[in-house]
Amino acid sequence: MKIETNLPPASATHVGGVMCSGEREVKLKPSVQFKIYLGLLVLSIGGYQFQHTSIDDFFVNPFYIGSMVLGILLVIKALGYTCQKCCRNQVIEGFYKYRLPSSNCYNCGHDIDKNST
Ligand SMILES: [Zn+2]
Repeated sequence: MKIETNLPPASATHVGGVMCSGEREVKLKPSVQFKIYLGLLVLSIGGYQFQHTSIDDFFVNPFYIGSMVLGILLVIKALGYTCQKCCRNQVIEGFYKYRLPSSNCYNCGHDIDKNST
C-alpha cells in the first residue's frame, strides 16, 4: 500500500505564507510590550527601594542594573513609538507630558499595532 501526498504544488508556497503570518501573531503588540517594560521598571525600582544595600554593592545591585537597562529600553521604545499615519509620538506628547500608548493613535485613531510588525 502506498500513501500518496495529493498536495498540489501551489499549496506548498501557501503553507509557507501561513507560517510566517502565524509567527507574527505570536509577537506581542507594541503597546502591550511597552506596558510590560514599564511594569518591570516599576517593580525593579520598587525592589531596589525596599532592598537595604550597602554602598559597596550599589552598582552591582540587580535591581539597579535592571532598572537602568529597562529605563534605556523604555526611552528607545518611547522615541520610536510614533503613528505611521500622522507621525505623532504616542508616548511623549510634550516635554512634561507623557501618556501610555494604546493600540490606536490618540490623534487620528489609526491602528498602530496592526501595521507595526
Ligand atoms: Zn495618528
